[in-house]
Amino acid sequence: GIVLEGRRLGHSYGPTRVLDDVDVTIRAGEIVAVMGPSGSGKSTLLHLLAGLLKPDVGEVWLAGQRFDTLGERKRSERRLKELGFVFQFGDLVPELTVEENVELPLRLLGTRPAQARARAHEMLDRLGVVEHAAKRLSEVSGGQAQRAAVARALVHTPPVILADEPTGSLDTTTGELVLEAFVDAARDQGTAVVLVTHELRVASWAGRDILLRDGRVVGGSAAGDLTGAS
Ligand code: ADP
Ligand code: ADP
Repeated sequence: GIVLEGRRLGHSYGPTRVLDDVDVTIRAGEIVAVMGPSGSGKSTLLHLLAGLLKPDVGEVWLAGQRFDTLGERKRSERRLKELGFVFQFGDLVPELTVEENVELPLRLLGTRPAQARARAHEMLDRLGVVEHAAKRLSEVSGGQAQRAAVARALVHTPPVILADEPTGSLDTTTGELVLEAFVDAARDQGTAVVLVTHELRVASWAGRDILLRDGRVVGGSAAGDLTGAS
């Protein structure tokens, strides 16, 4: 079924309209690449879908419920439980260790410490960074931090992951670890993954793509949204 939906989304920063009349429908278990040139509105779209930015126009629906109009507290709570994010200018906590960062969603959801740590290590291991688990985030490289962010997005098996250039600081092989982890989550847990990328090689891992230009959907296989299948 449909897990996340943006309807006729429009957004402006001051007088500049950067998204206009954008419709997106995301279903369980699918991987969708959001593509388009720099400045076309990809990050803005992701922030709107995450409820981190309120749309000027249009609606966001998460798991069949209106999301964008909820109050900040309710929105944060649903974001925490139902979404995983990987953002470019990571929102990991530099003073915490890698493992503490990754455990955070589980701890906030009430998982016991030992169990949260074991699960965090499992994800860090899959992403090839478990040997850095006890280092402070500020002591690891950009690529290692990016993998920690991916581990954190996956650790609580949320129904939806929103990822902005999740392989941006990674070489091809390491990037594939991330993409394989997304594919496995989609297949095994029905996680929907929306990933922003400007690389065709990365987009080729997605089942379909949405192409933005100047804040509008101009193509890709987004037309599949109109079939009404769910
Ligand atoms: P990308 O193209 O990789 O998404 P950008 O350089 O467009 O990255 O944006 C990086 C960050 O800077 C984002 O958080 C975005 O919201 C912010 N940003 C981009 N353009 C502006 C701007 N003109 N004024 C203020 N913040 C901006
Ligand atoms: P993309 O991710 O495709 O590069 P963005 O969504 O980051 O696109 O940005 C779309 C447009 O909005 C760009 O022209 C960018 O400069 C502008 N922009 C992004 N964030 C901000 C912001 N916080 N304030 C002002 N302008 C912004």
